Amino acid sequence: MEISYILNELGEDRELYFNAVAPPIIQTSNFVFNSFADLRGAFADEMSTYIYSRGINPTVDILRKKLAALDGAEDALVLNSGASAIFCAVLALVKSSDHIVSVEKPYTWAWKMFDNILPRFGVNTTYVDGTRIENFEVAIRPETRIIYLESPNTLMYDLQDLEAIATLAKSLGIITIIDNSYCTPLYQKPHSFGIDLSLQSATKYIGGHSDTVAGVLTGSKKLIKQIFDEQALNTGSLIPPFNAWLLLRGLRTLPMRLDRITRSTMVVIDYLKLHPKIDRIIFPFSDDFPQLTLARKQMTGACGLFTIVLKAESHAQIEKFTFTLKHFLVAVSWGGHESLILPQAGGMDPKDFDPTIERHRMARVFIGLEDADYLIKDLGQALEVL
Ligand SMILES: *Cc1c(COP(=O)(O)O)cnc(C)c1O
Repeated sequence: MEISYILNELGEDRELYFNAVAPPIIQTSNFVFNSFADLRGAFADEMSTYIYSRGINPTVDILRKKLAALDGAEDALVLNSGASAIFCAVLALVKSSDHIVSVEKPYTWAWKMFDNILPRFGVNTTYVDGTRIENFEVAIRPETRIIYLESPNTLMYDLQDLEAIATLAKSLGIITIIDNSYCTPLYQKPHSFGIDLSLQSATKYIGGHSDTVAGVLTGSKKLIKQIFDEQALNTGSLIPPFNAWLLLRGLRTLPMRLDRITRSTMVVIDYLKLHPKIDRIIFPFSDDFPQLTLARKQMTGACGLFTIVLKAESHAQIEKFTFTLKHFLVAVSWGGHESLILPQAGGMDPKDFDPTIERHRMARVFIGLEDADYLIKDLGQALEVL
């Protein structure tokens, strides 16, 4: 299916809403029934028709069709946040005494779920260095139910070989889940490598304007229905229609935003790579990235987010550099129109700062939609203070 068709036409039936070009926000909690037979059918399968917007909603359905098609998946759910997509997918698929193998250092709220919530229900997680398939083979037990991946992850951008892991998992009846927020389905299609469930924080590139929080989960009709029936409906985790409408709007420009960010990211990285105050850059498509071959095999692009290592001697120097930047905002999240910076030192007690530890001198950078030259000028004047 062509991407232009998915983003501009798929799921949109304009005759149903006065031939309006923009889809309507069906802001209703409740839907009316005209017969007992319809009511009975709806109760038997809450995914089959509109009953109540904690379940499915027509505005959200337009978005589900587009997001499933973008991922090459049969179906999609859109949730209240990326964290909620992670939680619903995992919780719907495990029972007491099951085991999970997760890539080490996954997204914060994934490891908090694995370490703090799931053990209360007898579900335990083993973390592995995901760069080697052997580590998964060793960690898997008879009761392993899920392999949880994030490729690339943030800060170090470590990758996992999706095809090899999916093949291993399938041979053992284990379900694979990947957090694909970094790439979006435009730059990596996990289902094409055999991964069962792909999720993203739609807060990032899909929304793209830093004005809504949401998550996407895609997979087979069977798995998506199981997660809907056994988890999302019960926790009330699905996205409300207005937020879905914002994501529909974001989707229209997704390819051009990613194109633009890809080009500016390369220009900014080329500048920083040669800068005397920068030790090194960590980015999956850099020539010196240790897993560059795998990145080229399974990702068709990389953009926006990368890590810089500053040549800094003190915590105070990094703070000065950070707040000398005029156009890079200091904030969490990423994927919006605005460029961002998040130094590791920012979350540390100055007493603990040690310049011989490379991680302490790292900063995560996100390139937004501003002109590359505008950003380079800003970085140049701020690096002067180091
Ligand atoms: C932001 C993020 C999430 C969580 O998404 P929210 O929409 O903030 O809940 C999950 N994974 C990754 C990689 C993220 O960057």
